[in-house]
Amino acid sequence: MTIHQPIRSLEDAIARCQAQGMRVSKQRRFILELLWQAGEHLSAREIYNRLNAQGKDIGHTSVYQNLDALSNNQIIECLERADGRLYGNMSDSHSHMNCLDTNQILDIHVTLPDALIQDIEARVGVKITDYRVDFYGHVHPQSPATPETERAPTE
Ligand SMILES: [Zn+2]
Repeated sequence: MTIHQPIRSLEDAIARCQAQGMRVSKQRRFILELLWQAGEHLSAREIYNRLNAQGKDIGHTSVYQNLDALSNNQIIECLERADGRLYGNMSDSHSHMNCLDTNQILDIHVTLPDALIQDIEARVGVKITDYRVDFYGHVHPQSPATPETERAPTE
């Protein structure tokens, strides 16, 4: 089994396609570019709409087929949701912050404390090799995400 390095950029994603013998067609590249630009989880329909809004020449069927091929080869992420599939640029293990107000799903890398991992392992008798955490919540009332520009310059 080949141990792959995580895909961390559009270039990595294209290189991985090539390493796996996948042809990097113009359409396939459009989809990868969009997912890496957007950094969001998008449905096939949204991907199709955005590419066409950008004037990219890609058909509906091509979008679906390429998303299938890319997710089956673990180049991109495919999330199964009750209302359909969503695709994201991050294919390695990561966690999600699900915002209940905006329905946004943000990718985050979370490292759980060793003590917690060991406690879970002891409880269930399974050696943990990987994990993904789904967080759910509302927009924080005192959101620290103040835009940089609103902060007083530090001098
Ligand atoms: Zn994700």
